[in-house]
Amino acid sequence: MYKLNHLVVFVIFFITACAAPNTARINYDTAELDAEASIQRELALKKLFSYKKRLHNVSYPILRSASKFCPDKQVNSVGAQGASSADFESYWKTTANNILGGDEFIITWVAKDGPAASAGLAVNDKVIAVNDVQFGTNKLQHTKFYAETNRIQMSKYTQAKLTVKRGEQQVLNLSVNQEKICDYPAVLSESNAVNAYADGRRIIITKGMMRFAQDDQDLALVIAHELGHNLMGHIDKKQSNHMLGTLLDLAASVNGINTQGMFSSAGASAFSQDFEAEADYVALYYMKAADLPLEGVADFWRDMAAEHPSSIGSNHSASHPATSERFLAISKTIEEINSKIASGQPLRPNLK
Ligand SMILES: [Zn+2]
Repeated sequence: MYKLNHLVVFVIFFITACAAPNTARINYDTAELDAEASIQRELALKKLFSYKKRLHNVSYPILRSASKFCPDKQVNSVGAQGASSADFESYWKTTANNILGGDEFIITWVAKDGPAASAGLAVNDKVIAVNDVQFGTNKLQHTKFYAETNRIQMSKYTQAKLTVKRGEQQVLNLSVNQEKICDYPAVLSESNAVNAYADGRRIIITKGMMRFAQDDQDLALVIAHELGHNLMGHIDKKQSNHMLGTLLDLAASVNGINTQGMFSSAGASAFSQDFEAEADYVALYYMKAADLPLEGVADFWRDMAAEHPSSIGSNHSASHPATSERFLAISKTIEEINSKIASGQPLRPNLK
């Protein structure tokens, strides 16, 4: 015991003696520190909003064009999103207020060529009422906005009636049409892992994936793939195969470690490569339906292979096909689509 204490004292002395810096620390006062922290919070929030804006810009046209593939899972949409500072944690509230420009429910995104844009709704508009339902500064106004513009009131109103304030003075009454989109919204995960998921209800894209999928064509492929899992009912099929997890992920095979636990059921993993291949296949049709260019989209898997070489070779026990298989399957699907276009055939995935 004495020996141990002696050792501890020695170690502490050693650390203190050697680990102390030799130079004087730069001084700053609390006010400077607070000011810098505030600048950084503002940058972080602006970055978050820009991720979300890009995600909506890329996902919305796909959800809209794919609506013909999801007749049983459509929702009305005006093509707009908003946010309230009330929904942010107290640490972020002031910053959110500054960036949004007030504590009301404020429009943060409007779909290009969507109904809201056509009716004249603009980013930064403050929502006062929708369908005569008043909006306030409390939490969860976005849920109310979604309900009023997308679902509940539409039996009473043929258009959504939006009352918004623009700037300090101008009050506008806008009648906004709706359009059908697939009801699988794309949401941002703040994880830095390069991944994307489908959970049967939503499409979840990580910040890490958004950075990896540098151009919008890559991101569109990822979104369309996850939409494929949802639309083709893979989650239900997985669960009926005694699947343990409820998420299917895009990049699981990339390093072979992400989802080992998730795909531990042998019955389910027997199907998972087929489901992944199917999601890749239908994704190309959804992209084409949205009029997105397919040329070069298979390169996503070459880029993935370059970053994660362990995923190049095929491995039948892996949850996902190898990047080499995925590149070829996507290239051949594009050939299939192009030959259908050339011969005037309808652009629908081939069924067995
Ligand atoms: Zn997948």
